Amino acid sequence: MSAKPLIGGIEAGGTKFVCAVGTGPDDLRAETRFPTTTPEETIGRAIAFFEEQARHQPLAAVGIASFGPVDPDPASPTFGYITSTPKPGWTNTDFAAAVGRALGVPVGFDTDVNGAALGEARWGAGQGLDNFIYLTIGTGIGGGGLVNGQLLHGLVHPEMGHILLPPHPDDPHPEGFCPFHGHCLEGMASGPALEKRWQARGETLPPDHPAWELEAHYLALGLVNFICTLSPQRIIMGGGVMDQPHLFPLVRRKVQTLLNGYIQSPAILSGIDRYIVPPGLGSRAGVLGAIALGAQAVETG
Ligand code: ZN
Repeated sequence: MSAKPLIGGIEAGGTKFVCAVGTGPDDLRAETRFPTTTPEETIGRAIAFFEEQARHQPLAAVGIASFGPVDPDPASPTFGYITSTPKPGWTNTDFAAAVGRALGVPVGFDTDVNGAALGEARWGAGQGLDNFIYLTIGTGIGGGGLVNGQLLHGLVHPEMGHILLPPHPDDPHPEGFCPFHGHCLEGMASGPALEKRWQARGETLPPDHPAWELEAHYLALGLVNFICTLSPQRIIMGGGVMDQPHLFPLVRRKVQTLLNGYIQSPAILSGIDRYIVPPGLGSRAGVLGAIALGAQAVETG
């Protein structure tokens, strides 16, 4: 048996929850998934799953990688809350403390993307790096990452999906689709934005459809802003939209074009295939990120 502590992880998404127990990518012992309904029902199902698992072997901690916005500041009275989310019924939900009380274990809590970044740092495409970002491009767009080896928080936490972008002259919907900002990155390039712009789901559009040039353009604009601001050593891009394999080469080329040779790093000039990459943990990046947050809670006490 492994000497590593057994950790529970909750990948808490706006449409579904994924819960698992394990010690890492080579040792995931049980997993369940269910739709996100009310907070009481959904968090209750997660707790019930861990109570059942803990009968076999006690859990040392639970990590929660949550949709947001959240309060990740341990010194705040609303630490562990989902705060101002537009998702009905979830505003001001006490999440981390409810799980900790029910299970009697320490709880690590952060954004879904910071969780995924921590998982990638331990076991995936961020290994050995002190500064990198993890972006998810899906129902929404979010970004997290490590700066000087620490998860990026700051005032609250980054909202990389909501940086404002100039609309492309050929965009049939230059106003964008974010209810808060119109033409922010999420409002231009999330899965729902793509679907609303072209009146078709992304996976039904062929690789030569103009949707993808425009999608790659907006993603590249976002990436260039992050590269110039944070100087990440790598950019990891996950989420359902990035499951289109033809999108990565388009995004890489457009990032090089937009930067126009200004940043003199071989990572961008000649090694961009290894600089802008999918998650090393693939579709398990989210739930393994939650387990990484739990493991961190054990290590930091
Ligand atoms: Zn926005």
